[in-house]
Amino acid sequence: MPELVKTMIRDVPNFPKEGIVFKDITTAIKDPKIFKRIIDYLTNEYKNQKIDYIVSIESRGFIFGAPLAYNLDAGLVVIRKPGKLPADVEKVSYDLEYGTDSIEVHKDAIEPGKKVLLIDDLLATGGTVEASCKLINKIGGDLIGVAFVVELTFLNGRKKLDNNVNIVSMVKY
Ligand code: AMP
Repeated sequence: MPELVKTMIRDVPNFPKEGIVFKDITTAIKDPKIFKRIIDYLTNEYKNQKIDYIVSIESRGFIFGAPLAYNLDAGLVVIRKPGKLPADVEKVSYDLEYGTDSIEVHKDAIEPGKKVLLIDDLLATGGTVEASCKLINKIGGDLIGVAFVVELTFLNGRKKLDNNVNIVSMVKY
């Protein structure tokens, strides 16, 4: 199943800049059978676990986070780029290749001790997910796992996460 999904993800060379091969998931999710396979795969991975919240990362994380939350009877929490969330936020900054970036979550989004699954479309260097884990920690969530549709294993993004965090990725390069 992951192999079929893989064939539907388009490589776009030199986007957003020279030397990066962008893994374009739009070609996969526009096919209803493929989109369903992705969501079913992730649902199956977690269907026997108690999860209170799916925390999804802007913006492609939302695409997969919402149907997964629905299937798992979990709530949906969003991590957003700065300045988008209206109420009080926690913020974490992280390094990019050039400069820094930040992400935010509502301070009251997760009640302390609630079980949380973090999801994003793709794991590359791991900077985004590392910062997201810090945010979840800050507001008291209990991280039970991290899920991705795509993992670029050659970038070793997993190393940025705690050894005891369970990581699921459907399609690996
Ligand atoms: P990173 O923080 O390096 O793990 O980057 C992860 C974020 O950047 C994800 O939210 C992805 O959507 C995006 N991203 C990074 N590299 C790629 C790539 N080669 N193709 C598609 N998306 C990417």
